[in-house]
Amino acid sequence: MKIAILSRNKRLYSTRRLKEAGEQRGHEVDVIDTLHCYMDITSAKPMVRFKGEALPQYDAIIPRIGASISFYGTAVVRQFEMTGAFSVNESVAISRSRDKLRSMQLLSRKGIGLPRTGFAHSPDNIKDLIRNVGGAPLVIKLLEGTQGVGVVLAETGKAAQSVIEAFMGINTNILVQEFIKEAGGADIRCLVVGGKVVAAMKRQGQEGEFRSNLHRGGSAQITKISAQERATAVAAAKAMGLNVCGVDLLRSNRGPVVMEVNSSPGLEGIETATGKDIAGIIFQFIEKNMRPFNTRTKGKG
Ligand code: ADP
Ligand code: MG
Repeated sequence: MKIAILSRNKRLYSTRRLKEAGEQRGHEVDVIDTLHCYMDITSAKPMVRFKGEALPQYDAIIPRIGASISFYGTAVVRQFEMTGAFSVNESVAISRSRDKLRSMQLLSRKGIGLPRTGFAHSPDNIKDLIRNVGGAPLVIKLLEGTQGVGVVLAETGKAAQSVIEAFMGINTNILVQEFIKEAGGADIRCLVVGGKVVAAMKRQGQEGEFRSNLHRGGSAQITKISAQERATAVAAAKAMGLNVCGVDLLRSNRGPVVMEVNSSPGLEGIETATGKDIAGIIFQFIEKNMRPFNTRTKGKG
């Protein structure tokens, strides 16, 4: 098959591994810089152009769209869908996953376990916002944050109030969330491919750090997950409409709760921790599911 990986940087571990795994399996794999794609969206025959030429017809694409280019990136994915290429994750599903509030509303509607969460822009009654999610200690998050930056633990009601006021002062959307203390500074990353958890790792924050992000000095280990955790991760992927994703869970006293769902999960941490060939598993999924125009929305949504 002819497959394109949409990625800004061909030297990234995940991009390199995907190219290598695809070629090993006998596919022709091109890495294409998403931001350098352009197109005539009114043309009767949808196509994507790159460096002065029309790109060939691809059977499938693997979008690796960074959070900072979600808007343009999903438009490019949608254009590829219109050419009939099978996208491992649909543009609509990627857009959904990029909006934390929309994601949580979708997951909540499907009855998936979530930390008690409120969101606000300019609440007139901050005390009520805090009370509503069960009071301090609680976690306050900037919606745009990644890699643990913009995630604050407020241990007391007073601390929570001042952090919320500070965020309100910079005119941003915030998320106020029950602190799952019993998670002990760890979370579980489940890698879901085609409706199955194919690998899972536990990420543990540094001593004294409640954030488990590897970028914050956390460490990863292979872990066994329970049937309930497995079912939660699979249900979350399905609710989001993502074929390949990383579902992050916290182990709470009332069972697994979903923290976030990532539509371009990094492969380095999970392949290293588990020793599994995740890139190869993603190609197996493509080989099984690749059919022209095999998307739920056909690039319409
Ligand atoms: P980011 O998108 O920046 O990674 P996350 O929401 O994933 O933000 O939070 C970063 C880390 O903080 C998580 O991996 C987890 O270890 C910890 N964390 C986040 N929310 C909670 C919570 N409600 N209770 C306990 N720990 C949390
Ligand atoms: Mg995270």
